[in-house]
Amino acid sequence: MDKKQLPSHAKVVVIGGGVVGCSILFHLAKFGWKDVVLLERDELTSGSSWHAAGQIHTISSDPNISRLQSYTIDLYKEIEELSGHSVGLHITGGFYLASTPEWYDYLKRERSKARYMGLNQEFISPAEVAERHPLIDPKHYVAALWDDQDGDLDPSGATYAFAKAAKVHGAQYFTHTPVTGTTQRSDGSWDVTTPDGVINAEMIVNCGGLWAREVGHMQGINLPVQPMEHHYLITEEIPEIAARDTRLPAGIDYEANIYFRQERNGMLLGTYEPRGTPWKVAGTPWDFGHELLPHDLDRIAERLEMSFERIPAIGAVGIKDIINGPFTFGPDGNPMIGPVPGMTNYWCAVGVMAGFCQGGGVGLTMAEWMMDGEPSIDVWAMDVARFGDWATPDWGTVKSTENYERRFVMTFPNETLPKGRLQKTTAIYDRLVAKGARMGQSFGLENALWFADGPDDAHEEPTFERNRSHEYVAREVEAVRSNVGGIEIANFAKHEFKGAGARAYLNRILAGFIPKAGRLTLTPMLTPNGKLYGDLTVACLGDDHFMLFGSGAMQEAHRRWFEQDLPDDVFYQNVSDDWHGVAISGPKSRALLARITRDDMGSDAFKFRDLRQTYVGGVPVILNRISFSGELGYEIYCRPHYLMKLAEAIEDAGANLGYRWYGARALMSMRLEKAWGVWTLDYRPDFSAAQSGMDVFINWKKDFVGKAAAAAEKASGPDKRLVTMVIDVDGIDVSNDEAILVDGVAVGYVSSGGYAHHVKKSVAMGYVGAAHAAAGTRVQVEILGQFYDAEIQGAPLYDANGANMRA
Ligand SMILES: Cc1cc2nc3c(=O)[nH]c(=O)nc-3n(C[C@H](O)[C@H](O)[C@H](O)COP(=O)(O)OP(=O)(O)OC[C@H]3O[C@@H](n4cnc5c(N)ncnc54)[C@H](O)[C@@H]3O)c2cc1C
Repeated sequence: MDKKQLPSHAKVVVIGGGVVGCSILFHLAKFGWKDVVLLERDELTSGSSWHAAGQIHTISSDPNISRLQSYTIDLYKEIEELSGHSVGLHITGGFYLASTPEWYDYLKRERSKARYMGLNQEFISPAEVAERHPLIDPKHYVAALWDDQDGDLDPSGATYAFAKAAKVHGAQYFTHTPVTGTTQRSDGSWDVTTPDGVINAEMIVNCGGLWAREVGHMQGINLPVQPMEHHYLITEEIPEIAARDTRLPAGIDYEANIYFRQERNGMLLGTYEPRGTPWKVAGTPWDFGHELLPHDLDRIAERLEMSFERIPAIGAVGIKDIINGPFTFGPDGNPMIGPVPGMTNYWCAVGVMAGFCQGGGVGLTMAEWMMDGEPSIDVWAMDVARFGDWATPDWGTVKSTENYERRFVMTFPNETLPKGRLQKTTAIYDRLVAKGARMGQSFGLENALWFADGPDDAHEEPTFERNRSHEYVAREVEAVRSNVGGIEIANFAKHEFKGAGARAYLNRILAGFIPKAGRLTLTPMLTPNGKLYGDLTVACLGDDHFMLFGSGAMQEAHRRWFEQDLPDDVFYQNVSDDWHGVAISGPKSRALLARITRDDMGSDAFKFRDLRQTYVGGVPVILNRISFSGELGYEIYCRPHYLMKLAEAIEDAGANLGYRWYGARALMSMRLEKAWGVWTLDYRPDFSAAQSGMDVFINWKKDFVGKAAAAAEKASGPDKRLVTMVIDVDGIDVSNDEAILVDGVAVGYVSSGGYAHHVKKSVAMGYVGAAHAAAGTRVQVEILGQFYDAEIQGAPLYDANGANMRA
């Protein structure tokens, strides 16, 4: 074959011509970057895209992903018209079938999300299911959630339509052009090597799909994704379908673990096997092409039997085709997209397991991010930075397999998933487990959620209602509010800045006050568009030396943010794993601390928001006088190898002060009483400083990133606000994402909440339109389909003026 004429330069080279790469190419070109090129090793669709089942729907665990799925489905008409290439779209509507009360509850939660997102979903009865889909036996179902937007398409047609529409907008794509190497130049651009020449690109995007890992390896990047084998089958013609003149709706039956739709005059039916089969764990061969894998119906026999019961017509005809094909999963089932932390101009969009539901939204988000520096909505649930180096290839395979198996398996709000555990532990892990800690995992690290009466008692019963930790958490809260409690803080992020330019740099990127030596401040960090990108505690350890404490989950995202334009005279490091520790808080925490340090801990000698590098419990520490519980409290950070010694000292000194270990659930309960938000839930880039109330920490007298946008919003007033509500409800609390309503109309959503044990109230935080944000406003909150009255609060429920904390 003749060598093709590749351009020598491009603004962006997209590696991989599956649906995801083609969608990114389309969006970049549509939004104005014409100098963009896609390289495909074989034909377009040659990874998992060509053999997809083509079912499309909007439901996702993350509301912003649902929004993007809705966007994706709406986009298909546009690309079909622009490209002239059929996408074979059938918008039939579809239902999510609940055959148990638990699944009905799950769907009620989904309905509530859809209500505030403005998505068109409604409950229908089993009889209505049978009316719309006469092949379904309705006796198995309790209810179904109907979504108008669902349907199916031709996966290959959709991928080509994206590519051809991108071409119409001025982009180029080259097939049979494998990328064999990616090399970075000193100016940050990339030389992308192919057998037909080298393209120098300002940015590259890994959309390698089944080969995402291999494309990453070219640059030493280990992406924790895993291709999984997946079966679907197509039946022979079903006479009842052949006799119809309208297409049957699509559907998902969670309990039977099947998705199904009409395919010609038969049915297509797919299932996620109870024991997933990872494919090519050691790496995807480069010569794998348009191939399918040998099928093994035994793996899905149980599921098929159930589907024959529920859709009997399927069992009555033969199977025409059985497809077993691989597609790539990520550890939590969501895509991994965005700039790869630690790299420059290297982007990825991998692990997209529902490419035809999500590909358009991924393309939109990536294009916005690459072109504008930030996406227009918070895509944390898809951000590649939600994983760190602990997300190793082995861990990725274990978790991706777990996720595959659980694709249609319910995960309750209080549930902690079993696989990939103990990936990271601290020195007191065994000690806390022996005391009855029920552990969770955050950013790979095990941390205590709550403490039972001993290891045998430390189990969970998955539920949407108040769970069995309720009374245990109550006693932890009581210990902190009355005496003193301690919680591990290894999972807080720590970012260290040193150098002559550190103060000036922090003053620029943080919107708040930068403290003088020995003091702490809390500050928001904003994007140029004025969106929240962090709420960080800044500790000044010395004139040119700072430590920032923040969300553990966001640590890689923050590292990426800090590293993107770090001046030469600033040295920065993510030191989260170098500092573990314990936070003690409660009215007796000062007395406890005084027993294990020689320093004067008197209220005048060590004030609220003071910090000191000293010794506590005989080990060197950074001691901060702050607390997230709203009590007098201290965060004691030590090097990991001193943690056991520190923990022992705290336990011994606290023995006759009523000391008790507490976990994350007690902390979440106490911070609700103070109306303090948490990152990823209440604080996130969907909102601004003014909307979240974080604007009170802004230093308006200086210049900082996002100032112009924040000032404009200050002048006009925010259109929505974060509020705290007390809900009139018993036995159940919000988790998050419930709709908030006034007169039956959604005016906002719950960002977090739970039971506030000390004040004994069910509390939620959430964003509502500014017109509904005043203290005393009566609203309703939808929990599992019931509407409960709630009242917006004007002040924190506990210690409103902060006297206890400042004592
Ligand atoms: C059996 C089955 C059923 C499915 N059903 C559905 C469904 O109903 N709905 C849905 O939304 N999704 C479904 N999917 C998932 C869907 O197919 C994937 O989410 C989607 O194909 C992912 O697209 P992608 O572009 O990320 O990856 P891929 O399709 O794998 O594309 C990656 C591309 O990159 C190319 N490439 C790799 N390395 C290089 C290189 N070095 N140089 C140049 N090119 C390279 C490959 O050749 C390939 O074409 C199904 C998948 C399977 C297997």
